[in-house]
Amino acid sequence: MAYQALYRKWRPSNFEEVKGQDHIVTTLKNQIEMNRIGHAYLFCGTRGTGKTSIAKIFAKAVNCEHPVNGSPCNECAMCRAVNEQRSMNVIEIDAASNNGVDNIREIREEVAYSPSEGKYKVYIIDEVHMLSIGAFNALLKTLEEPPSYVIFILATTEAHKIPITILSRCQRYDFRRISTGTIAERLRELADAEGIDAEDAALAYVARMADGSMRDALSLLDQCNAFYIGQRLKYENVLDVLGAVDTSVFGSLLKSICSQDVSGVIHLIDEIVMQGRDLTQFVVDFTWYLRNLLMVQSSGDLTDLVEASAEQLEVMRQEASGIDASVLMRYIRIFSDLSGQVRYSTQKRVLVEVALIKLCHPAMERNLDAVLNRLAILEQKVANGVVVASQASGAGIAGGNPEEISGGQQGTDTFFQPEQKAVSEDLRMIIDRWKQMTDDLTPSMALMLKGAVISEGPDNQLIIALADDMRYGYFVEEGHRQALENALSERVGKQVKVNPVQPDKGENNNSQFIDPVQAFQGIDIVYED
Ligand SMILES: [Zn+2]
Repeated sequence: MAYQALYRKWRPSNFEEVKGQDHIVTTLKNQIEMNRIGHAYLFCGTRGTGKTSIAKIFAKAVNCEHPVNGSPCNECAMCRAVNEQRSMNVIEIDAASNNGVDNIREIREEVAYSPSEGKYKVYIIDEVHMLSIGAFNALLKTLEEPPSYVIFILATTEAHKIPITILSRCQRYDFRRISTGTIAERLRELADAEGIDAEDAALAYVARMADGSMRDALSLLDQCNAFYIGQRLKYENVLDVLGAVDTSVFGSLLKSICSQDVSGVIHLIDEIVMQGRDLTQFVVDFTWYLRNLLMVQSSGDLTDLVEASAEQLEVMRQEASGIDASVLMRYIRIFSDLSGQVRYSTQKRVLVEVALIKLCHPAMERNLDAVLNRLAILEQKVANGVVVASQASGAGIAGGNPEEISGGQQGTDTFFQPEQKAVSEDLRMIIDRWKQMTDDLTPSMALMLKGAVISEGPDNQLIIALADDMRYGYFVEEGHRQALENALSERVGKQVKVNPVQPDKGENNNSQFIDPVQAFQGIDIVYED
C-alpha cells in the first residue's frame, strides 16, 4: 500500500479528535444538537489550524443518520460516503484555482437542486479570499437567499480580504494557533500509535517548530521519521533533520559572550556554519533560548512556559543565575532585531557575527541597555573580588585611580585590543573628528585634554601637545596614556599610539589658560595638586 502522509492519515474524523479549537467545536456541536444550523460560515485562521478538517466533520455531522452528541457517527452510509469522498453532498472547492465568476455560477446552478440523499449540501470553499470581485458578487447572490438545504463554509487565512457584504452574511469563527503543548501531546499519541519511538524532547522541538500548525507538526514528524526510520528519534536527530542547533551549543555561546571572549564566539559560529546549520533558524532558536533563560530566572513560576526536560531546566537555571535580567533583555533585543534582518540577507554570517560581537562589547553601543550591561559586568567583577583596574595595572598603577572604574571602555579590562596598527590615514581621521573621538571619555580625562593640540607624528604616533605642565604630567603616567590609547583604538578599530608632549613654553602659553572655576563646573571629582 502506498505510504500515506501522517497528516492525511490522522486527519480528525470527528469533533472529539480536533485539538486546540474547543471554543469552535463546542459551538458547532451545540448547533447540530439543537438543530440551529446556519447557512453560511466563515472559518478564519492561520494554516494548519484545522479549518478544513472541522468543515468536513461539520458537513458529515449535519448529514449523519445517527449523530452522537453533535459528532458524526462515522458508521452510517452518509458518513462512510463522505469519508470515502464519494458523497454528492459535500463539495470542496479550492478558490485559489477556481476563482472566476463562471466557477461560482456553476455552484449557483447546482445549488438549485436539492440533495438526492441526506439533508444538506455543504459547499466548502477553501482560500475564499482568492475569489475575484465578480465571483464574490455572484457568491453574494447565493448567500442572500440560500435554499434551506445548502450550507456554505468559507475558509480563509486572510479574512481582511473578504468583502464586508460577504462577511456580514456569515457566522465567523476565528481559529487559534494551537499551543505547543497541545501539539506535542498529539504528536505523542500519534507516535505511539504509529510505533515511532521518539524522545519527548524531540517531539517538543517539532511541536515548537510547527508554530501553531498541527499540519506542519505532522509533516515535520514525517520528515524526521523518514530520515531515521526504524531508529529511536532523538532530540539531536530532529535538530539534524531540521538544520537546527543544539541548546548545549547555546549554553557555551552564552558563556563566551558573557566572558567577552570574541574569538570563542566567532569559532562557535564557524562550527555551526560548518555543520550546515541554518543561520536564520539559529537566530530564532537562540532568541528563544535567551527568552527561556529569562523565564527560568523570573521569581514567579514561569517554567511551565519553557519547553525543556527537567535536566535541561536545571542546566538553564544555573546558566540564568549568572546573568542579570537587563543583560538578557539587551541580548534578546539585539537578536530579535537581527532575526528580521537575517531572513532576507545574503550575508547572514556577517550579520550574525557582528551582532555577537556587539553582545560581547556593550561599550560599542551608546544606549541605556548597553550601559546597564557594562554596569552589570563591572558589578559581577566587583562581587567576584576581581580588582577592576586599568589595563596598565601591570605597568605600575594597580589599584590606582578609582575614577578608572567609571571609565568603562578605556579603564577596564573589557577592552578589546585590535590587531592592526593605526596608520597615517587613521590618525588623520582621529584628528579631523577629535571631538567625536573623545566625547565619552571620563570627565577627568576630558578635562585634561582641554586645550590640547593634536597632530600626526613620526612612526604613526598621535602627538598630543598638552595645554600645561599639570596636564602633561597626567598623560605621562602610563595608565592614563594607555586609557586614552585604548579609547581611541576602540573607536577606530586599530591600535593607536599616543605620544604626549610638553606644552610649548613660548608664545601661546597664555592662550591656553583655562579658568579653573569654569573648568571644574559640573564635574564631580576631587582635585589634588
Ligand atoms: Zn453517521
